[in-house]
Amino acid sequence: MMAPLDRFRSWVKRRVKQWKVERIVEELKLSDVQLRKVMQLLDDEMNKGLCKGTNPNAAIKMFPTYVRSIPDGTEEGNYLALDLGGTNFRVLLIRLNGSEVSMRSKIFLVPNFIMTGTAEELFDHIAECISKFMHEEGIADQKLPLGFTFSFPCKQEGLARARLSQWTKGFKVSGVEGEDIVRLLHEAIERRDDIDVECVAVINDTVGAQISCAHEDRNCQIGLILGTGSNACYMEQLDKVETWDGDERAPRQVIINTEWGAFGDNGVLDFIRTQYDQELDAKFSVNPGKQLYEKMMSGMYLGELARLYLERLVNEGLLFEGQSSDLLSTPGRFYTKYISEIESDKRDDFKNTKSVLEYDLGIENYSNADCHYVQYVCSLVSSRAAHLASCGCAVLLNRVARPSVTIAVDGSLYRFHPKFGDIMEQKVSQLVNKGLKFKIMLSHDGSGKGAALVAAVACRIRDEQKR
Ligand code: BGC
Ligand code: MG
Repeated sequence: MMAPLDRFRSWVKRRVKQWKVERIVEELKLSDVQLRKVMQLLDDEMNKGLCKGTNPNAAIKMFPTYVRSIPDGTEEGNYLALDLGGTNFRVLLIRLNGSEVSMRSKIFLVPNFIMTGTAEELFDHIAECISKFMHEEGIADQKLPLGFTFSFPCKQEGLARARLSQWTKGFKVSGVEGEDIVRLLHEAIERRDDIDVECVAVINDTVGAQISCAHEDRNCQIGLILGTGSNACYMEQLDKVETWDGDERAPRQVIINTEWGAFGDNGVLDFIRTQYDQELDAKFSVNPGKQLYEKMMSGMYLGELARLYLERLVNEGLLFEGQSSDLLSTPGRFYTKYISEIESDKRDDFKNTKSVLEYDLGIENYSNADCHYVQYVCSLVSSRAAHLASCGCAVLLNRVARPSVTIAVDGSLYRFHPKFGDIMEQKVSQLVNKGLKFKIMLSHDGSGKGAALVAAVACRIRDEQKR
């Protein structure tokens, strides 16, 4: 037994430590007042993106997508789809038959040298993967329409014309920005000369999520991605879209790809960004100064953000008795999936936390108190992300202003984090205008199914126009 005085001393020591940790991480907690200010700013920036005069300088581009209606369930036929822009590159074959959808798909790697190479290398690689897939599936002799889920900001000039405005996430391929990616794809397919494929639609992954979910739920007016990157889209009334230059036929609506990841790129979020948000942006990302909202809430960055806070605690002697490991000191080596694993631990059972510390990070000397602080840092980083995403959802729900709206969501962060969804449901309810009800629904394979559905609609419209 410790003597009472020693017990008291050790209690004081623990409290002082707790107080010191708290002082460092406190900045990650956002109050409702701050969140409401974020909402107001986001709404203003979205209006700037939609207005003709302010769009050229707006941070949030609010791209009209040329997707004007949601599928009506009569879509049919065989389609190819491509999904590029997240963790995996996939080629898919999708059979639509009314409400029935079946698909086959294959994942291909995009090697690092291609993610940072030239346009020709990237699109030749894509065309090669399509060809391989078609040969393996025994469909290389068919002429199939293709829907391309390309998860980067594009200014569309039609369903099958999309100019990349800038790369995001880990991509930095030269010769693509400003170019029409459908042209680049068709040229690469022609260079091979062994398959006959026509890309009839390009969509963003947010749109894929929304469309595939809308196939089952007509209330689905919003698509959200919380994965490697973050973004959302929603159905907007044409009257509010000054930048619209397509046809004015009914339905007088169009899905807007907000590209909200770029929120804050003009400095408006500086009041909540911390020293570590700045450090991550400057030293870790390949696109400093860009996608600042995304960098606070997506899978490519949250692990690194947590790592920077953990490193600070170690350096202050507040964690692991001041001893880091080589792995923990390596930028990018604390993956976002560790956050999900660590936060999946049951209360005071540090099973996953210990396994990450020991096996993934090579940290040998840790106490239960250390485990507790590691969990605490992870939960603050992910809650802030979920709260910021909630601001975005509440703003979109207020804009759609329908009594009952479904939000389709997809992405590795949302899928694998144990609490993200619950935190968001709670926060969005608090933030959204009174009287608006919403539901958050996981979208299954939106990037494949959504692309095929949009391609089917594109083919139908084309056939109607031919007649
Ligand atoms: C891209 C978006 C995309 C999002 C999620 C962002 O970095 O700019 O187009 O929807 O990531 O994949
Ligand atoms: Mg994806």
